[in-house]
Amino acid sequence: MNVSRIEHIGIAVESLEKAIPYYETLLGIKCYAIEEVVDQKVKTAFFKVGDTKIELLESTNPEGPIGKFIEKKGQGIHHIAFAVDNVNEALTEVEANGIQLVDKQGRKGAEGLNIGFLHPKSTFGVLTELCSE
Ligand code: ZN
Repeated sequence: MNVSRIEHIGIAVESLEKAIPYYETLLGIKCYAIEEVVDQKVKTAFFKVGDTKIELLESTNPEGPIGKFIEKKGQGIHHIAFAVDNVNEALTEVEANGIQLVDKQGRKGAEGLNIGFLHPKSTFGVLTELCSE
């Protein structure tokens, strides 16, 4: 598995409307995309910081993964995403190394990326996403 960079850092927020102006001011750049990922019950907003993105995540449903995360832990860093050449191959390799997966197979995430999550139980508490184009 070849990890080329940190693709993005996912941050759970209660409101994109409130969080976007903060990041625009802090980073001095504009949010370049807002996208809803219906099956994840989430609305995302993206900022580009060098080769890495910040992905803000607002829940569209309290039963969704971000809604539950915020209810349990509050707002904050939700996951870190590493860019790999091929998500399906990477997931197979990771699983062969005894790491528990959330997704056995890649699926479609925001920005048309193929994504798969590793379980935080196996990753020292950090929800880890692998993604490829
Ligand atoms: Zn992500």
